[in-house]
Amino acid sequence: MHTDQITLATPVQPNNRGGKLLKDIFYEETAGGYQQAIDKARDAVLGFLRDTEQPFSGIRPAVIREAVYSTDLNRPLADYDALLAEVHALYIRHATAFHLPQYIAHLNCPVVIPALAAEVIISAINSSQDTYDQSAGGTFIERRLIDWTANEIGYTNADGVFTAGGSQSNLMGLLLARDYFALQVLGHDVKRDGLSEQARRFRIFVSDKAHFSNEKNTWLLGLGEQAMVKVKTDSRFRMDVAALKSAVEEALAQGNIPIAIVATAGTTDFGNIDPLEPIADIASAYNLWMHVDAAYGCGLLLSDKYRHLLGGIERADSVTVDYHKSFFQPISSSAFLVKDKSTLQLVKHHADYLNPPEQDYDELPAQINKSITQSTRRFDALKLWCTLRLMGKQKLGIYTDMMIDTAAATAALLQQDPDFDLLSSSDLGVLVFRFRPAGIDTDLSALNLRIKQSLFFEGTYILASTKVEGEFYLKFTILNPVTTLSHIREILEAIKSTGYTAG
Ligand SMILES: *Cc1c(COP(=O)(O)O)cnc(C)c1O
Repeated sequence: MHTDQITLATPVQPNNRGGKLLKDIFYEETAGGYQQAIDKARDAVLGFLRDTEQPFSGIRPAVIREAVYSTDLNRPLADYDALLAEVHALYIRHATAFHLPQYIAHLNCPVVIPALAAEVIISAINSSQDTYDQSAGGTFIERRLIDWTANEIGYTNADGVFTAGGSQSNLMGLLLARDYFALQVLGHDVKRDGLSEQARRFRIFVSDKAHFSNEKNTWLLGLGEQAMVKVKTDSRFRMDVAALKSAVEEALAQGNIPIAIVATAGTTDFGNIDPLEPIADIASAYNLWMHVDAAYGCGLLLSDKYRHLLGGIERADSVTVDYHKSFFQPISSSAFLVKDKSTLQLVKHHADYLNPPEQDYDELPAQINKSITQSTRRFDALKLWCTLRLMGKQKLGIYTDMMIDTAAATAALLQQDPDFDLLSSSDLGVLVFRFRPAGIDTDLSALNLRIKQSLFFEGTYILASTKVEGEFYLKFTILNPVTTLSHIREILEAIKSTGYTAG
């Protein structure tokens, strides 16, 4: 820019400070306005709690779409009252209510209040976790929580980073598996040189019930879905260890190059945990990277009663944990951890303006060194920090136990009831079943789909579903310590009466 252009520009009026033009910016002169806005937003949330009696309003997509698209985004509203009335009409009134026991569909936990208090601080102060000069204490709060999680896993020399979610953490696991293998075994630097010819023959082993993000991640990593070998599961839908071993042997016999195994600790569809110890044995026998996707099952780290179900997780080279699935945290809150901190160095990149190579990291630490797909990054760690500092691990663990116990009791109810067909018990809280009334000869997939849809558009109950061997099943995900067996009985009755009417 030329100097003469600066003198020509209209100067900002100094007496605008505190004036109307700047009243919406968050700074010391607008504290009163901030307080009023937050009070009103909080009242809107309280209204949501007070007025929401069922998990969904039942609104159809075409109706809500029309309402959203008929607003004029270039004509601002008069004030916060008008704004919040519109937000209520377009969003809050029809929002899915995860806190109600009648919502029993996906992996959405109810959230704890200290984490919501933290959200208020996080968004206003708006630290960014990439470098120390944008976060200060935030960097160490995140690191301390990574260390804490690592310690709960049983790691002693670990590192990690908060991520946006389990899919991203799983991507980091496979990225490290790929680049570590290429560098250590083949002497090939993927970061510098890209994929080599041999990469086409890399093979990654997952169970056929693993999360779909693993598949996406193989093509993101340039290996293609062809790199993924799906290992069959046992009667409880966990990875079959004998089948894994033969799949690895078979890949070797075909001249392919096994590089990693992804074990799932808590599958999305069944909540069961792959046999971690035997899988770790195979990984070490064949020198494969072992990643454990504990996006869901990480909640067991909190539990005294059920922690043993994760036995062997400490042998994994890397782990995904989703605090927003199983630690009662608001979205987003997730992390990726490695057993050996030196492996995370593989993702380090130097940018002259952020973390130049000559910088002393002990003096000015930078979490950006550990993050692959985010530079500017929210201080989500504060939510977990506030949760642990106020509630403690033990209380969260009791919540986890309550859900597991409710799920076990629900499984027993489903088993005893001749109208239901339950596919498997769960280590956690997911139950896949269908309504199968005796003596009714009908297409069970179509009937169960009708039950799910009908309850959804009535808004009374939200269930999930999945397909097993081409057949449609209903699915419960029990993730709410408020949910009791009497809620479950009520839901089962509703399924039955809808089923008998629709059947
Ligand atoms: C939900 C889930 C993921 C993905 O996590 P996001 O946070 O939704 O990205 C990965 N693995 C499993 C087993 C999951 O249940």
